[in-house]
Amino acid sequence: MDATVDQHDGYRFVYLLPFSADTLLVEDTYYSDTPELDRAALRDRIGDYARTAGWGVHSVEREEQGVLAVVLGGDFDAYWRSTGKVAKAGVRAGLFHPTTGYSFPDAVRFAHLIADANDLSGAALHDLTHAHAARTWAERKFYRMLDLMLFKAAEPAERYRVLERFYTLRPGLVSRFYAARSTTLDKMRVLAGRPPVPIGRAIQALKDAS
Ligand SMILES: Cc1cc2nc3c(=O)[nH]c(=O)nc-3n(C[C@H](O)[C@H](O)[C@H](O)COP(=O)(O)OP(=O)(O)OC[C@H]3O[C@@H](n4cnc5c(N)ncnc54)[C@H](O)[C@@H]3O)c2cc1C
Repeated sequence: MDATVDQHDGYRFVYLLPFSADTLLVEDTYYSDTPELDRAALRDRIGDYARTAGWGVHSVEREEQGVLAVVLGGDFDAYWRSTGKVAKAGVRAGLFHPTTGYSFPDAVRFAHLIADANDLSGAALHDLTHAHAARTWAERKFYRMLDLMLFKAAEPAERYRVLERFYTLRPGLVSRFYAARSTTLDKMRVLAGRPPVPIGRAIQALKDAS
């Protein structure tokens, strides 16, 4: 994870995942205010990144793009009703990490939930999935509050400062954060110290949200 790159359009980092000795995933990520994607500019930046690193690109095996939600707040019950009284799963059920937008750990938990269910009728699945999603939403207030800090208190070009400190914390804490299983102590550690955002704007962001 390389966040030493130019900070265009909010917090930006490049993920590098080697698949083999000569195949590498290069992922360019932005914590942006808008869902717009300039595919040509992103393609150029990924190419520039590889060239600057000294890697000759023989071929592009696959490309993927998308926009994931970072959740600052909202009315869960109104959202659930807006898509009808049917069982819901995945991102549609709000089952993703509010800060990373990733849904894989939730997908695994959800698969276990369904595999353990006795009653697979439509009504029972609605009630089961609603209860699970509502509980998950309620448990994740902390992450939504952090997102508010990131988006409302920090200037886009300064967003990286919030994450810069976060990634100096212990690997176990970072893992639990990604799994949305932060302990109370983890949460205190994430918030401890001099805030990397202006305190006045942070208080205002929290006030606006409540
Ligand atoms: C570039 C990128 C990188 C990512 N990296 C990660 C990562 O590292 N880790 C991680 O956990 N997540 C990652 N994500 C997020 C993850 O891919 C998504 O959260 C996940 O795919 C959502 O799964 P889903 O099943 O909820 O929804 P989807 O994958 O969107 O599946 C919903 C399906 O329902 C179908 N559908 C929609 N409407 C209807 C309808 N009316 N009738 C029938 N079918 C319908 C759609 O066609 C689609 O196939 C990444 C996403 C992107 C774009």
